Amino acid sequence: MSSLQSFIAVSTSTANDLRHLFRLNGQKAPPSTQPYFPRISCCFVSEDTQKSAPSISTGNRLLSAKSEDLIEREKRVLMGTYVRAPVVLVRGKGCKLYDVDGMEYVDMAAGIAVNSLGYGDGEWVKAVAEQAKSLAHVSNVYYSEPQVILAEHLVEYSFADRVFFTNSGTEANEAAIKFARKFQKVSCDSDTHATEFVSFSNSFHGRTMGALALTSKENYRLPFEPVMPGAKFVKYGDIDGAKKAIVPGKTAAVFVEPIQGEGGIHSATKEFLQTLRTACDDAGALLIFDEVQCGLGRTGYLWAHEPYGIVPDIMTLAKPLAGGLPIGVALTTEKVASAISYGDHGSTFAGSPLVCHAALTVLKRIKDPSFLSAVTNKGLYFKELLTHKLGANSHVKEVRGLGLIIGIDLDVLASPLVDACRALGLLVLTAGKGNVVRLVPPLIISEEELKQAADIIERCLPALDADSVQ
Ligand code: PMP
Repeated sequence: MSSLQSFIAVSTSTANDLRHLFRLNGQKAPPSTQPYFPRISCCFVSEDTQKSAPSISTGNRLLSAKSEDLIEREKRVLMGTYVRAPVVLVRGKGCKLYDVDGMEYVDMAAGIAVNSLGYGDGEWVKAVAEQAKSLAHVSNVYYSEPQVILAEHLVEYSFADRVFFTNSGTEANEAAIKFARKFQKVSCDSDTHATEFVSFSNSFHGRTMGALALTSKENYRLPFEPVMPGAKFVKYGDIDGAKKAIVPGKTAAVFVEPIQGEGGIHSATKEFLQTLRTACDDAGALLIFDEVQCGLGRTGYLWAHEPYGIVPDIMTLAKPLAGGLPIGVALTTEKVASAISYGDHGSTFAGSPLVCHAALTVLKRIKDPSFLSAVTNKGLYFKELLTHKLGANSHVKEVRGLGLIIGIDLDVLASPLVDACRALGLLVLTAGKGNVVRLVPPLIISEEELKQAADIIERCLPALDADSVQ
């Protein structure tokens, strides 16, 4: 059965089920035996595909009064920075999300690679509730035990000797920038120490003025220039270009994602990372791995750099560590940490007992070898299934990734497919230039749910054609 046939077969009933959800703008409702792609012009986009200031259109979708009201209220009071899908989510359980109208979604977005233990995990909820009851926040001018225990665990399981907590991935990278600058200042005798940074095409490191300077996409940077000066971009994977760009006395550090998430699920080669390591060592520069999206079990390894056997001087983490609470970390070697003095950096909220206690639950679960091997096996199963189901479609160029960070590379924009999937109860993200479907589900997802997701994507593939002929 072709993908179009299977779509028609399945969508016969689904279109009926969905009928109540869509207003047909004067059009006749399609006969229930026809495949029906509601035209929803807004998609659930990643940071990487958000346009500057489009108005949010709900297309033909008939929103419930509750949804419509909230969406209207949001428009009036929130800064218009997010292009949101017209879905008001109210609840989650396991790998499923539920909207205000009771519609169930299989969640392959996980809050953008955040909710690794899914929603409502018993152990996590208990840890948060207990800590909230006893002590949620204290200033970093005092000590608190969960922060120290979490740091001890992170040090024990990684290359690092020292830990600095932040509240987000961007902040972790901002801390890494400062640590690299201070390291160079302290380790260089002359007044003119290395202050520049190298990062790569398709990179995403955040949106504050330092991290933004290292984020490749011009749409994000140009409106806010001047950002931090001294950032150089090299093509991701370009070994000769990287060697030339890393200059003794000039390059303070090199920022690289071992697997790029926002950029479209691109994995570094071992040769590329090894070249960066050697060039940094030769130049006295630091090598910084941004594992904000790809780290902490997502690839089936606790650290995405593990299978490469190459170790950084600094690694940044964030998204999944506290199971949905805001956290970021810059992990460093003693060599880097020794350059940092009291008062060099700080944060009011970072490393709070509440967040660190929640993170301990997550880290304990994720680092378990059986949890990690399950991620590997589920990733292999899912990639094979997707390749089998989607590979013959002319729009699908490649299914790639490692563990449960998977990209479906298309020769067209992915948004019609994303919209169609959502209408059938599947949440997926885009990446790259909007041409990649990004799948980063909770790491606890079952094979059955992965099959459900693959089936829906297969059924929705004709949306890529349907959109272009309308
Ligand atoms: N680095 C990478 C690799 C990311 O994917 C992201 C977020 N998508 C960030 C940094 C920024 O993290 P945050 O949004 O938590 O500030």
